[in-house]
Amino acid sequence: MKKIQLICDCCGKEVPLPTGGEVALWTIRVSLSSSDYESPFRQKKAEWCRECIERVGMLPPIELEEKELPIPTPPSFEDLVRIIIREENAR
Ligand SMILES: [Zn+2]
Repeated sequence: MKKIQLICDCCGKEVPLPTGGEVALWTIRVSLSSSDYESPFRQKKAEWCRECIERVGMLPPIELEEKELPIPTPPSFEDLVRIIIREENAR
């Protein structure tokens, strides 16, 4: 038998498995580099729950996000063509 557990790397809390299209854990990446040519590039990655993401201010509370942000309408084919033409003309 397999048992899948989703655990937040920040608070250690178990997160329920997603049932629909929601995100259970968010990937956080932190990288470090400097202008020194020989300085190594370092990167850390972790998976955090929504509560931890909200606590550090990277996303608004989900209640606000649902109220303030309308569901985005995907651009139509014509819109995409206009965007591509505008970008080509700008070059
Ligand atoms: Zn957490």
